[in-house]
Amino acid sequence: MATNSGALWVAKFPTSTKTADLVQPFRGNFEAFQRAMVASKISVKITATHRPKERAYMMHYSWMIVKGQIDAADVPPLPALQGADIIWNHAHAKQGAQEMVDGYGIGSLGVPPALNSRHIDGRAVDTSLSWDGDIVIRNKDGSSRNIVGSPRNSTHPDLIAAGATYGVIHLKNVMADKVHWSDDGH
Ligand SMILES: [Zn+2]
Repeated sequence: MATNSGALWVAKFPTSTKTADLVQPFRGNFEAFQRAMVASKISVKITATHRPKERAYMMHYSWMIVKGQIDAADVPPLPALQGADIIWNHAHAKQGAQEMVDGYGIGSLGVPPALNSRHIDGRAVDTSLSWDGDIVIRNKDGSSRNIVGSPRNSTHPDLIAAGATYGVIHLKNVMADKVHWSDDGH
């Protein structure tokens, strides 16, 4: 049944936080890096793995409508949408889109959320990482790498270098998305 845009869509098509929803070989690579981090007393919290393409579509077009970059009447349908027959163009189109932007927490973004990302392909992870003091982590080949000083989070260059040995590549533009890792740095 088709349903008007609005807040009720936000809870649908949730983003997974399970590594089981990643594709191989990235899943195994990330899980190995995760084990190494945990062994080094890094607190690892996964905040996103796989994101359904339906959610990416909802985020993208609600933002575009709210920011006046597309008319609700011009939003293309998502092909083969499963249970996501959203009506964008209705009497309260702007309000419906605004509720979704608020629910997704994307109102302050300067660019629209991507329609395509490594998350949709199951090839990206967002992490919240923290630790105390200086630590030593094991690279994939078994050698050790010192991680000294701050920042004690997923932007530390030596942690990023350790991740790369596992095939877990931090976003190349590190500060543009501090928590984002994928199989190719995108
Ligand atoms: Zn991400």
